[in-house]
Amino acid sequence: MQETVFIADEAAMEHVGAVLLEAMQQRGVVHLQGDLGMGKTTLSRGLLRAAGHQGAVKSPTYTLVEPYDVAQGTIYHFDLYRLLDPEELEYLGIRDYFTEDSLALIEWPDKGQGLLPEPDLELFLTPQDEGRALRWQAHSEHGAVAAEKLQL
Ligand code: ADP
Ligand code: MG
Repeated sequence: MQETVFIADEAAMEHVGAVLLEAMQQRGVVHLQGDLGMGKTTLSRGLLRAAGHQGAVKSPTYTLVEPYDVAQGTIYHFDLYRLLDPEELEYLGIRDYFTEDSLALIEWPDKGQGLLPEPDLELFLTPQDEGRALRWQAHSEHGAVAAEKLQL
């Protein structure tokens, strides 16, 4: 894992999302690890805006997943915080969400353990001073290529 990068505020976190979009070339699976309030949704909003989405971005806490049709395909934003049983993901038709040309951002991926695909890239957000510390770990070739491009 690479050294920690300091993300000072909300705007900087949205910028991380934009850089991540470019690095992932809008495909693959990214796990967003971090406690409540660490900026997972903020990062996701930055990514979706950079992909051309102009409306609101809220964490899909009750619906578990929100699809966004953007210019170059579909981005799925998951928030599994309220998932009680990974089996619930079966009812959502979980397998349809992971295709060659889609990108999935997953908040609280551990709640879906066993039913989610392995991530290409895993991001970790922790508190640091008034901002956040960001680290990441690649888990595939695609993720490793993306990690190289994360110049933050
Ligand atoms: P999560 O989805 O991880 O629960 P949110 O994205 O909803 O967290 O963010 C929670 C709060 O943290 C928001 O008020 C947001 O503005 C703030 N925030 C996001 N990134 C940072 C940052 N790098 N430094 C300080 N505050 C941040
Ligand atoms: Mg959130």
